[in-house]
Amino acid sequence: MSDPSWEPCPAGEIQSLAQQLRGRGHQRTALVSVVAVALLLVGTLTVVVFNQRDVQKQSIPISITCTECMELFVDYNGGNLSSGRVRQVKHHLDQCPSCRMEFNKMRQKNPRST
Ligand SMILES: [Zn+2]
Repeated sequence: MSDPSWEPCPAGEIQSLAQQLRGRGHQRTALVSVVAVALLLVGTLTVVVFNQRDVQKQSIPISITCTECMELFVDYNGGNLSSGRVRQVKHHLDQCPSCRMEFNKMRQKNPRST
């Protein structure tokens, strides 16, 4: 592999080349760590978000809106809802004073039929 046309390098060229290489190496290392940290952050955030959604799903029934809740009042009062729906309405009434008021008004007008 020795090439007779090669000449000794001018003084300092190897050093500057080595410095360039070292500089590039540093840049690449920095880039890799930035990417790694970014990926780690995204991963952590994703896990946290998913965990929170899971916790919400487990601890409380999927929450319903006021409109949905009021639409269920009659069936809730008449005992025509599935247990899941009943829990949703109950939970919403616990959390929402205005729906609780509406429900009480409705119940006064329509006493429980069962
Ligand atoms: Zn409400």
